[in-house]
Amino acid sequence: MDRMPTLFVSHGAPTFALEPGRAGAHLAALGRRLPRPAAIVVLSPHWMTRGIAVQSGARPATVHDFGGFPEPLYRLRYPAPGAPALAAQVQALLASRGLAARLDPEQGYDHGAWVPLLHLFPDADVPVVQVSLPAGADARAVHSLGTALATLRDAGVLLIGSGSITHNLRDVFGRNGADRPPPGYARAFMDWTAAALRDGREADLLDWAVRAPHAQRAHPTDEHLLPLHFALGAAGPGARVRDVLDGEVIGGVLGMDSYVLDGDGVAGVPRVAATAGAAA
Ligand code: ZN
Repeated sequence: MDRMPTLFVSHGAPTFALEPGRAGAHLAALGRRLPRPAAIVVLSPHWMTRGIAVQSGARPATVHDFGGFPEPLYRLRYPAPGAPALAAQVQALLASRGLAARLDPEQGYDHGAWVPLLHLFPDADVPVVQVSLPAGADARAVHSLGTALATLRDAGVLLIGSGSITHNLRDVFGRNGADRPPPGYARAFMDWTAAALRDGREADLLDWAVRAPHAQRAHPTDEHLLPLHFALGAAGPGARVRDVLDGEVIGGVLGMDSYVLDGDGVAGVPRVAATAGAAA
């Protein structure tokens, strides 16, 4: 069984499903060159809950959790099977780290999960389990959530944090008026993040809000950056970026970079049983 890297993906606007651009092409190529995952566990900020929830249905629906977009977007489906056995395993791993989580058999795939998966694994034949973003969790808490699931990588599970490397919707939709964004701020934030990932400066990344350039402008709220901390935690100690997928900056403000991450493995944490049930 191949040990999987972890991913942070920028999922952009819902229209990313129809307009893949450079970022989508990178994800498609990545999906082709990665070993085939046994299953996928993905965290997206578009499923935010009180406490932690784990999607556990066998056939999760595709949720079109957005309004006012072109009609073809609402016809898209991502019919990947769920993985109830893996969901239970995720719940148990979280419990072993003192993190209580409930199973949710009704939850479908939100667009933060299915839009990038559409590019990564267009055949939708790899089972997927979504983990919610617990409301109020900070970078360290979300990092711990990832760390608790790191051993799944040894069972061929691909752990993905889906967010956006910059995410200021006021700037995206141009309602900034006189408050024009500083030129190049998205690029500066992305470059700082990529350099910190290359150097393994985890403390800087956890304290991004006070250390990164234009931090508040890039993320007026942190929910689209927290999935990076999930992917970092899941990569284990010594997490480093293995590959930066340059997705460009859309409209000068929306960063679309994604990262392939890897770490040293997780010593001292018992390996979980193979996820045979995941493929059921
Ligand atoms: Zn989003």
